[in-house]
Amino acid sequence: MISGLTPTLSREAALRLLVRMLEQAGLPNARADARFLALHALALTPLDLTLRGREPIGEAGAHRLGRAAERRLAGEPVARILGAWEFWGLPFSLGPETLVPRPDTESVVETALRLFPERDRPLRLVDLGTGSGCILVALLHERLRAFGLGLDRAEGALRVARANAERNGVGARAAFLRGSWLDALVGPFDLIVSNPPYIAAPVIATLDTEVREHDPMAALDGGPDGLDAYRAILLGIARRPDLLSPGGALVLEIGYDQAAALTALAGAMGFAEVSIGRDLAGNDRVVTLRPSLQGR
Ligand code: GLN
Repeated sequence: MISGLTPTLSREAALRLLVRMLEQAGLPNARADARFLALHALALTPLDLTLRGREPIGEAGAHRLGRAAERRLAGEPVARILGAWEFWGLPFSLGPETLVPRPDTESVVETALRLFPERDRPLRLVDLGTGSGCILVALLHERLRAFGLGLDRAEGALRVARANAERNGVGARAAFLRGSWLDALVGPFDLIVSNPPYIAAPVIATLDTEVREHDPMAALDGGPDGLDAYRAILLGIARRPDLLSPGGALVLEIGYDQAAALTALAGAMGFAEVSIGRDLAGNDRVVTLRPSLQGR
């Protein structure tokens, strides 16, 4: 057991002790991390902590909090310890085969929603490499008559995504299937969205340890130049533009330095429209593509 985290300690005192331990380990968000871990390990709401902070953490609480602290001190991200994280203001469970949803990815959701601003319009959506299902579930949550298909190669991710759709009240409008990019799809879809793996293989070694050691490699590794998934997706649409409805679009997350490469790739494959959007930090983060209508 982590020294000092004893059963008679009050919830407030345990939280203060945890903050100090994480600060001493040099963790940059010690206060927020400690609060998340304490609420989780002690199964408290923020209100419980405020109103009943003097109550002791007890034997089981001390054990669970100690275990959570050990994992955080060993470098595991808070979201992994919780097994859950928030995206688009909604709760998402995580699994070993899903990324932790990033705030950057909310730009994909925003871009997609702007293309189809009416809340009640029936839409058909696909999310390629759905992972936790966060993009698809957020879209279904905002577009009340949309139906969405989430594809992933990882069975474990599909189970997590399905549970997340149920948990967020959109399970009846979502289906999750094992599949690789566009191969097995029959369209037309109004929106095809994806946050594919896009880290170039040589860059992987330079990623934050929290990402490199705890996010699934299959969700990060974009091949030698990071563009393998985009090539597969764009080629799939270029060959079968009928996968998109007239007015339909492809909305993809990209790395902050990939806008030029994506624009060149889309140009070479004859896409009619390519536009780049930014995330809240001002980095290029989203590409919107429409295929040429020729040959339809
Ligand atoms: N944005 C993620 C990261 O920086 C990468 C996600 C991805 O490859 N799709 O770690």
